[in-house]
Amino acid sequence: MKISRLNKNIALMGGTILDPINGNEKKGNVHIVDGKIKSIANKKPPKSATIIDCKGLIITHGFCDIHSHFREPGREDKETLESGAIAALAGGFTRVCVMPNTDPPIDSPESIRYIVDRSEECPVYIHPIGAISKNQHGEELTEMALMISEGAVAFSDDGLPVTDSRIMRNALEYANMLGTPLINHAEDLCLKQDGVMHEGTISTQLGLPSSPDL
Ligand SMILES: [Zn+2]
Repeated sequence: MKISRLNKNIALMGGTILDPINGNEKKGNVHIVDGKIKSIANKKPPKSATIIDCKGLIITHGFCDIHSHFREPGREDKETLESGAIAALAGGFTRVCVMPNTDPPIDSPESIRYIVDRSEECPVYIHPIGAISKNQHGEELTEMALMISEGAVAFSDDGLPVTDSRIMRNALEYANMLGTPLINHAEDLCLKQDGVMHEGTISTQLGLPSSPDL
């Protein structure tokens, strides 16, 4: 959960504390005041603290999902920023990067701003990934620098490959210049065709259209 939404004084009691960075694991209580860890110990927390029973649970850092689809705007029947954020929180994720292949795609500074503003109301941090090309048509680059200034953390035409090598080269050069990751949807549409399964013995036996693993 966002630190700003946490109770000011809480104690996580009796969980297994995992510190993956230092490779430590131990049982204990974690006392958090004003969003910061005050102590990790076996002693009882002050009476003023809100107690959260963590027996049988893991206490560790929040996870970050760098590739998720919340489908807002356009397909709110599948997922909204709020419902996706609640699901993320339930799984221990406190930060989520959302892909831009919504309807319409997140391909402008204004649409990045929309995601950032909407995420203010959500219980986890939502970081928008902007589209590489306008409308994800692979023909014209988006305003990458302006989108970064509005909050874009990376670029991708996820769901579709950028098939024009010149556009992809320009996108890579801009991303490099701006110091921002560029995430490739690595798929060759000519090889993929209308495949419904991997190409191999079984696809041949079934007579189904297939895609090679190239
Ligand atoms: Zn995806």
